[in-house]
Amino acid sequence: MTELNPTSAAGTAPVASTRAGAPAALLASNLVKYYDDGANRIDVLRDVSFSVEQGEMVAIVGASGSGKSTLLHILGLLDVPTSGSVTVAGESAEGLSESKKSALRNRSLGFVYQFHHLLAEFSALDNVAMPLIVRRESRSVARDRAREVLGLVGLAARADHYPGQLSGGERQRVALARALVTRPACVLADEPTGNLDRNTAQAMFELLSRVNQESGTAFAIVTHDPVLAQRADRQLVMEGGRLVSG
Ligand code: ADP
Ligand code: MG
Repeated sequence: MTELNPTSAAGTAPVASTRAGAPAALLASNLVKYYDDGANRIDVLRDVSFSVEQGEMVAIVGASGSGKSTLLHILGLLDVPTSGSVTVAGESAEGLSESKKSALRNRSLGFVYQFHHLLAEFSALDNVAMPLIVRRESRSVARDRAREVLGLVGLAARADHYPGQLSGGERQRVALARALVTRPACVLADEPTGNLDRNTAQAMFELLSRVNQESGTAFAIVTHDPVLAQRADRQLVMEGGRLVSG
């Protein structure tokens, strides 16, 4: 039986909430992930537990291969742990059907990747509105909200431009707006500045930090840039599949 209650005897996992009554935006409890092809077992995550509180900005750092992307995929309910559990905004993902999992993902999480993954044939506005359309919001509600969030990332004037007409930094800002449009409890970002030059990366991180403060959205951001990571409220350091500090 997998550990379900983070406050019980195992005692290694953080409690579900550190603020009165408010569930953590994200709670990882005793996450283990390994791949076993019969001949070899590759341990990728070795008992990882932590929480991201509501409104908190957490940076996840560590060498290449330390398990950061795997951790983020599991937190984002895109991959399942071998054991352990993930709780998103107070709701455990353990044992949920695929459709309930994707509903929880759509309701409470946003994603930003190293590459923007915008759809080339849609304008910035329609790219940002897409998650709401997927949720079956009306087109006008979705576009109004998308316009608002493009304003938040400083791109109101570029709403009608296509990804091909935007710079790398602007595309990442559109990708951020798309992640925020549903008002998620937490945005998960995997190397969101990994494809940008130094100055643009810095500006992007400043934007992430400002949006975090203004919108109260929690962020878990994987980055291998220690200077950028210092801007977060807290740094989690991964080493060989373990959390060694944070
Ligand atoms: P990071 O993002 O920190 O670079 P990853 O989470 O991508 O690390 O990978 C961590 C380790 O897990 C690596 O050693 C990688 O080779 C291994 N790994 C990831 N996916 C698989 C897989 N499907 N099968 C076997 N090993 C994998
Ligand atoms: Mg990675």
